[in-house]
Amino acid sequence: KAKEQVDGICAYTEELAHAELLRADVLHSFQSALEKEEFILYFQPKISGMDESITSAEVLVRWQRSDGAILGPNKFISVLEECGKVEALDFYVYEKAFQWMVSQRECRTQPVTLSLNISPFHFRDIEGFTKKLLDIINKYEIDTRYLIFEITESAYIRNRDAVNGMISILHAYHIRISMDDFGSGYSSLNTLKDIAFDEVKIDKSFLDGSLTEKGRIVLQEIFHLLKRTGKSIVCEGVETKEAADFLIQEGCDELQGYYYYRPICMREFEEAVKEKRKA
Ligand code: C2E
Ligand code: CA
Ligand code: CA
Ligand code: CA
Repeated sequence: KAKEQVDGICAYTEELAHAELLRADVLHSFQSALEKEEFILYFQPKISGMDESITSAEVLVRWQRSDGAILGPNKFISVLEECGKVEALDFYVYEKAFQWMVSQRECRTQPVTLSLNISPFHFRDIEGFTKKLLDIINKYEIDTRYLIFEITESAYIRNRDAVNGMISILHAYHIRISMDDFGSGYSSLNTLKDIAFDEVKIDKSFLDGSLTEKGRIVLQEIFHLLKRTGKSIVCEGVETKEAADFLIQEGCDELQGYYYYRPICMREFEEAVKEKRKA
């Protein structure tokens, strides 16, 4: 028992030390990584529930380190948020995404809608954030009908007024807003009545494991509620044919998950879109 405890403590301190190391490393190398363009955009296609074509994609950032390692966002976003540096990263991502949209426009391909994540950090200064965002949207002459911004349910709950303020500004420019990770927090149902979200993205935890009878009933009722309130429904974390078939049958508007595509790099995404359009 005593040994177990000691081992447990060792494992704990080791993990802590590792986390601290990573944190220090992230802070130390972030600025130069931005300058060296080590942050790269991955795209995860969103699939139409009508015909399973690619309708849009969520942009997900990765950090490609000089040693070749690729870090996922959960290794560095929270550190950057705590230190007030996430703004620089988010705007880097938005700008790269807009540049990609411009390159697509120049090839005269049919536009693809992009979903971009908004860190809760930005709710401290919604005027500053929206001004900066609209400035770069103007700079690249982006057609805002092809943009969706995702705000997590938990961020909404902690910043209702700021989020509602931000949504009304962005709506004036025809930018759509999605509630991400819906149903993952302690909210939930009453948040649907007073908010101006255009899309609701149902958290992937609803699809964990195989779909039980009760799981199906819960999803059916959520869909029913969302449809009656006029929201577009997206499900993330679709990993199996069983889940996809069920969601399509129930009228889910868009599906996102490993069953269709993992997050893929820009080139692969362009190929995937081309493939789908040929078919
Ligand atoms: P999220 O917005 O909830 O993104 C969905 C996450 O689920 C992504 O993880 C994606 O790779 C993963 N995923 C997609 N399909 C499946 C599936 O079928 N099964 C499972 N198990 N997972 C799936 P990722 O890329 O590691 O991103 C994690 C989080 O980091 C995102 O969660 C988002 O909150 C944040 N993030 C990513 N990019 C950005 C960014 O540019 N800015 C900000 N502020 N946050 C970002
Ligand atoms: Ca998201
Ligand atoms: Ca999500
Ligand atoms: Ca999430």
